[in-house]
Amino acid sequence: MHDFIYTSHPSRVVFGAGSLNHLEREIIQLGAKRALVLSTPEQAAQAEAIAKRLGERCAGVFAKAVMHVPIETARLAREEAARVGADCAVAIGGGSTTGLGKAIALESSLPILAIPTTYAGSEMTTIYGITEGGLKKTGRDARVLPKTVIYDPELTLSLPVGLSATSGMNAIAHAVEALYAVDGNPIISMIAEEGIRALARGLPAVVAAPADIKARSDALYGAWLCGVALNGSAMALHHKLCHTLGGSFNLPHAETHTIVLPHATAYNAKSAPEAMARIARALGATDAAQGLYALEQKLGTPLALKDLGMPESGLDRVADLAVANPYPNPAPLERAAIRRLLDNAWHGRAPAA
Ligand code: NAD
Repeated sequence: MHDFIYTSHPSRVVFGAGSLNHLEREIIQLGAKRALVLSTPEQAAQAEAIAKRLGERCAGVFAKAVMHVPIETARLAREEAARVGADCAVAIGGGSTTGLGKAIALESSLPILAIPTTYAGSEMTTIYGITEGGLKKTGRDARVLPKTVIYDPELTLSLPVGLSATSGMNAIAHAVEALYAVDGNPIISMIAEEGIRALARGLPAVVAAPADIKARSDALYGAWLCGVALNGSAMALHHKLCHTLGGSFNLPHAETHTIVLPHATAYNAKSAPEAMARIARALGATDAAQGLYALEQKLGTPLALKDLGMPESGLDRVADLAVANPYPNPAPLERAAIRRLLDNAWHGRAPAA
C-alpha cells in the first residue's frame, strides 16, 4: 500500500424512506430558528411544503435557484437571507439548489441543511461554483459543506426516469475519477467502488420501475457515496472535458457526463489497471469502459454528443482546451488521442477497446 492522506469532512446524514419526517428534529439539532427554504421554481411547491412543516422556524421561501448559480441569483438570495434574518438555509432539490445555498454560505457561513432530490452529490462536497459574465468559477471552501443532509428516497420518486439515469451516471463519473485520482487513497476507493455498485444495481431497477422505493434507495445511497468520492479526490480528464463542453457549448450537465464517461474511462484504461478492475467488479462487467457503455445502453441514456446539439466543428477546440492546461491524469494527455475520444463520443460509438 502506498502512503496517503485522507481528510474526513464532518456532516450528519439522515438516510431512509420517510426521513423528511425528521426535518424539525434536525433543524432543532442545528439550533436554527429562522430557516430560509431554497428551491428551483419547478420545485416551489415542495419548498412551500417544507416551509409548512417548519412552521415558526421558517423565515421564508426563495424559489429562484437555476442551473450553474448565476451571480445575480446568488446576490438576490444573499440579500433575502439577510433581509429575513435567516440563521440556516434549507436547500431542497438538486445540485443547482444546493449550489445556491453554498453561494449564501460562502459569504455568511450560514449553515445548510440539504435535502437532495437528484443524484448529483453536491451536498457532500466543499466545492462551490458561481457563474459571472458567462464564466463559471469554482473553488473549495469548508464553509459551504452542508452541516446536515436528509436523504429521503421518497423525494426522488418524482425525478423523471431520463434525468434519474443521467444524474446517476453523473454520480458514477465522480467515483470513476476518484478511483484513479492523483490523490486517491484506499478509503475513498472503497467508498467509490461501493457507490458505483449501488448505482449500477439501483439505476436499471429505477428505469424498470420508477416508483420502486428499494431501487430508489439503492440509487440515492450510491449517489451519496459518489458525492463523498468527488469531495475526497482531484478530478481528471473526464471532468475537464465535461467542463469544457458544458462551458463552451452550454451542453446539459448530467447528459454530457453520461456520454463522455465510457470514453474517458477507456482513455485511462491502460494507465490505471487497478481502478479499472474495481470499476468492472462494481459493474459486474469484464471491462470497465465497455461495462459503463453497456449500462447506459440498458438505461436508454443519450450516447452521442451530436444528439445534445454539439456542433462537430467544435471538437477541435475542445481537444485544444483539454491539453492547454496541464493537470494530473493517469494517461498522458495527447491531443490526437483526445480528439479521437471526442469523435467517438460525438458519434455515440462504443468506447475504444
Ligand atoms: P438540477 O439541480 O439543475 O435539477 C434539474 C431539474 O430537475 C430542476 O428543474 C429541478 O428542480 C428538477 N428536479 C430535481 N429533483 C427533482 C425531483 N426529485 N423531481 C422532479 N424534478 C426534480 O440538476 P442536478 O444535476 O442535480 O445539478 C446540476 C448542477 O449541480 C450543475 O450546475 C453542476 O455543476 C452542479 N453540481 C455541483 C457539485 C458540487 O460538488 N459543487 C456536484 C455535482 C453537481
